[in-house]
Amino acid sequence: MCSNIRLYSKLINHCTLLDSLPFYSYNAAFSGYQASKLNPTRFFATQGRNFQRFGLLFDIDGVLVRGKKILPTAPDAFQRLIDSAGKFRVPTVFVTNAGNKLRHHKAEQLSEWLNVEVHEDQVVMAHSPLKLFDQFFEKQMLVSGQGPVREIANNLGFTKITTIDDMRAAYPQLDCVDHKRRLVKPDSNAPVIPRIEGLLLFGEPVRWETSLQYLIDVLMTNGNVMGTPTSSYPHLPILACNMDLQWMAEANMPRFGHGAFLLCLEALFKKVTGKDLIYTALVGKPSEITYYHSETMVQHHARKIGINHPITTLYAIGDNIHTDIFGMNLYKEYLLRRRGSTKKIAMQGARGLDLSTHDFKGLTAENCYSVLVKSQLVCSIEMPQMLLLNFQSECTLIFLEPYQFQDQLIYVTGVYNENEKHVLEHSPRDFLPVEAKLQEPSITVGCVYEAIDTIFRRENFS
Ligand SMILES: [Mg+2]
Repeated sequence: MCSNIRLYSKLINHCTLLDSLPFYSYNAAFSGYQASKLNPTRFFATQGRNFQRFGLLFDIDGVLVRGKKILPTAPDAFQRLIDSAGKFRVPTVFVTNAGNKLRHHKAEQLSEWLNVEVHEDQVVMAHSPLKLFDQFFEKQMLVSGQGPVREIANNLGFTKITTIDDMRAAYPQLDCVDHKRRLVKPDSNAPVIPRIEGLLLFGEPVRWETSLQYLIDVLMTNGNVMGTPTSSYPHLPILACNMDLQWMAEANMPRFGHGAFLLCLEALFKKVTGKDLIYTALVGKPSEITYYHSETMVQHHARKIGINHPITTLYAIGDNIHTDIFGMNLYKEYLLRRRGSTKKIAMQGARGLDLSTHDFKGLTAENCYSVLVKSQLVCSIEMPQMLLLNFQSECTLIFLEPYQFQDQLIYVTGVYNENEKHVLEHSPRDFLPVEAKLQEPSITVGCVYEAIDTIFRRENFS
């Protein structure tokens, strides 16, 4: 047993199964014989790697890494997912709300962190489901975000891109908040800006006031910022990704995410027009369309690793009840609605998805389980004052006795605060009100290794 595993055994504090499968006996003496007596079909159908029917969806931040630091049990957990040749033996995808990278860069980063070869086809970024909105590929889209936004948009299929920097170069007089940056004449190399036909919001930009100004200007003028503001309504289509209000980086408290930026945009639009901003697409977790897209990726990965029968059970492993748990539970409800209907069912957050062009035939998930990982904080011995945050309530400090591991202090947070009287609602506007049951995990574990261990035992897989 390696040192990480020994550490892991100390770290686990408890495991709660809220909706154990009826045939499942959760104790150390569990045996295939007992299972076969309870449900022989299930036992023989699930034993052995070639007959397993489950796939995994992993959140990244707070489950596998904290900032740029890999969490201690993650590499050992992933060793259980691969065979002796280093190939995945369980269909696995990574579902993150990050949006400022290309998928292959995230796959390279994951491969390095986990010591497992991850392919870009296993990575679902916040913006990945936008490839389903092909009716916008030939439209002139104004893109907001940071990082290689033009490249990301092109990779998704969008062909006519204008960036906020292009707008500022062509119309600098519209950007007035920072007095020191005020310009009245356009850059001599400024591109000619065609009429904008839609907005593409990838993630939080660097200069919020600049992006907010140009986005509102474009909406108010129906795509021609040199025209008269008419506040036409319905306004231009808006495709937005990543609605996280806050996210965890290395800082000692949560940081503003793209959800905070969208909140500003919604509030400004309402103030200046008196009307509600409408999203044609709002993708990334917890949107069902992100899980729909993730399921297609899981089924695809299953074929790729030699599993030719349908994957019927999905486990989504995450640390945030507002996104990972809520999102998987929403998808579970979507599947129930779809199963009970002969029509194609629209998804919340995907008004603009053209259902007539999607057959949904490749989707076979019947059982969806959300797995809450109670986060750990790893910090250096020299800075123990950087104590941990509650990833679920997002701003509660918890002080616990740490374990020392090499040169680090590791805290098991027990992040879910049962004593909390009032949980602030951080879910995006379009997903409110949230039913409390949709934020309840199916399974709660102490770390990602325990998540894998629990799932393998439930599925009788080793
Ligand atoms: Mg997370």
